[in-house]
Amino acid sequence: MKYHPEILKTLKKHYPQKGDMDLGSPADSLLATIMSARTTDAQVLKMFPSFRKKFPNWNTLAKAKVEDIASAMNTIGLYRNKAKSIKALSQKIITDHQGKVPNNMDELVALPGVGRKTASCVLSACYNKPAIAVDTHVFRIAHRLGWAKGKDVVKVEKELAELVPQKSWSHINRTFVHFGREICKPGKPLCYKCPIASYCAYPNKTLEP
Ligand code: SF4
Repeated sequence: MKYHPEILKTLKKHYPQKGDMDLGSPADSLLATIMSARTTDAQVLKMFPSFRKKFPNWNTLAKAKVEDIASAMNTIGLYRNKAKSIKALSQKIITDHQGKVPNNMDELVALPGVGRKTASCVLSACYNKPAIAVDTHVFRIAHRLGWAKGKDVVKVEKELAELVPQKSWSHINRTFVHFGREICKPGKPLCYKCPIASYCAYPNKTLEP
């Protein structure tokens, strides 16, 4: 396994934008990240403003019927399950956390519908804490680069945490998501356009379109 700081440095230059689900406030970012599971970010961003108009705070979500929450987000995948989690999570945030989104991993993953990936997104985007959110792009690219061998996201997160300096943890997800959509795509990556190809261990690089 080989880590080269030039990889994240280069990707940061190419992809300086914040994450799509980084919506400014911990509440918005947490809700949008939960909604984005198995759905495109674009679909979430399209419905999110009208959803927040109907449910502007934790109280309105905690008191709402699950069916009403579900119908306000029925353009995205798994909306019924997500609606159940969002109602339960809103109640827990009010009763256990005085209406504030927790700012640490243990309390975040104890909330209904929140896994390590969602928690890491919130910690790094909203609380400026080092965290590695391993989504499908991070998982794939980490393997191709030779940074990870683990077969599940928890193992890959651990491998990355051991390999990458902590100050760069939050840049992994932020840059790999955009890089994974544009160049290091699922299926056939566009290695002939890749700015970090010389540091990559992937043995089946595509040399031409
Ligand atoms: S060389 Fe290819 S496989 Fe390696 S990071 Fe670049 S696009 Fe991905």
